[in-house]
Amino acid sequence: MYMNSRRDFLQKLGASAIMMQLSSMTASGQSNEPVQQPYKGRVLRVAIMGLGGYGTRVAEAMQACSKVKLVGLISGTPSKIKEWQAKYDIPESNCYNYDNFDQVKSNPNIDAVYVITPNELHHSQVIRVAKAGKHAICEKPMALNAKEGQEMIDACNKANVKLLVGYRMHFEPRTLEVIRMRNAGEFGKIRFFQGQCGFKAGDPTQWRLNKALAGGGALMDIGIYAINGARYMVGEEPNWVTAQETKTDPVKFKEDVDETIQFQLGFPGGAVASCLSSYNINHLDRFFLSGDKGFAEMQPSTGYGPIKGRTHNGEIIQPIVTHQTIQMEQMSGIILDGNRPVVAVDGEEGLKDLKIIEAIYRAVKTGQKVFLKA
Ligand code: NAD
Repeated sequence: MYMNSRRDFLQKLGASAIMMQLSSMTASGQSNEPVQQPYKGRVLRVAIMGLGGYGTRVAEAMQACSKVKLVGLISGTPSKIKEWQAKYDIPESNCYNYDNFDQVKSNPNIDAVYVITPNELHHSQVIRVAKAGKHAICEKPMALNAKEGQEMIDACNKANVKLLVGYRMHFEPRTLEVIRMRNAGEFGKIRFFQGQCGFKAGDPTQWRLNKALAGGGALMDIGIYAINGARYMVGEEPNWVTAQETKTDPVKFKEDVDETIQFQLGFPGGAVASCLSSYNINHLDRFFLSGDKGFAEMQPSTGYGPIKGRTHNGEIIQPIVTHQTIQMEQMSGIILDGNRPVVAVDGEEGLKDLKIIEAIYRAVKTGQKVFLKA
C-alpha cells in the first residue's frame, strides 16, 4: 500500500492533524486541500511509560491527534505524575509506577503502553506490557541486542498484542516522497547511500553514555538512524557490513561506549552505503541517495524537522508535520484497524536494525567484513 500523492496522504490523517498540517505548511506547499469531517472512529488510549525528555515531546505532539489520546502515566517520580495529571487531565486510576504497572491488565480504559525509558529497560518493560494484555509501542533502539528483541516479539505474539517501534521517520512526508520516487523507478538503479547521523553528547553522566543502560554509545542512539535510513532509502536489506571506530575521548566514552563509528553496508542489488555515527560531531544529519537516473539529498534528514530535501527534479515539497503527531495518528490505525504502513514499524523491523548493530560492533572488534543472513 503506497501513499502515492499528498491527497492520499492527507486522507489518512485525522481532522485535527490535518488542521495542524495546513496551518504549518510552508509557503511553497499548496493550501487548498478540502477540510475533512471530524474523526468519529475508535481512539487508541495510550499510557506513556517514562516521563522524560522524549516522553514529554510525544505527549505534547499527541494533543494534536484525533485517533490517539494520552490517558495514562507510568513513572517512578510521583511529582511528575501529579504535574502530568493536571496538564493532561489524567485520572488517578490510570497512573502507575514501575513496580505496580502490571496492574494495567485489569484496566479496561488503557489500550496500549508507549515505553519511552532508557534502552536497557525496553526489553523487560515491553514483556510486562504484553503479559498485561496491552499493545506495546517501544522507543528505538527496541532493545540492547537481537536476542532481547526476539524475546519481545515472541512475548507480544504470545499475548496476541501488537508491538510497534517508534520509527517516526517512517511517517514523515518528505521521506515518504523519496521512497515513492524510488519505488516508481525515478532514481533508476540505486547505487549508493550516504547517511551521516551525529551530535556532540553533553553531560558525561547521562544514561546514554552508560553501557549498561544504553547498550553501547552513539550507534545505539543516533547511528541507528543511518542504519534504518540506509534500509528504507535503498529499499533492500544489507548482506554485509564493515566498520571502523575512532575514539578521541576514552574518559567520556568508556569501553564499549562508541564515540564515532564509520560503517559500510553492502546490498544484494549491488548498492553500497557509507555511514557515519557520532557522539562527537555536530550538524551531522544528512542523507544522500544516488541512482543511475537521479538522486535525493536530505538535510536535515532525521532530526525533528522540518526535514528538507531536494532531488534531481528540485526541492521536495510535502507538508511539514510534527513527526510524533503523525506517527501516533498512523500507529492508531495500525493497531486498531490493521493498517499497513509504507515502511514497517513492527518488532521485526526493530529486530533488523539490532542485527545490523550487532554486526557493526562485531566488525569493529574483529576488523573483518561481517556477513548478514538473508
Ligand atoms: P530521558 O533521560 O530524557 O528520559 C528517560 C526517562 O526514563 C526519565 O523520565 C527517567 O526518569 C526514566 N527512567 C526510568 N527508569 C530509569 C533508570 N533506571 N535510569 C534512568 N532513567 C530512568 O531520555 P529520553 O531522551 O526521553 O529517551 C528515552 C528513550 O526514547 C530512549 O530509548 C531513546 O532512544 C528514545 N528516544 C527516541 C527519540 C526519537 O526521536 N524517536 C528521541 C529521543 C529519545
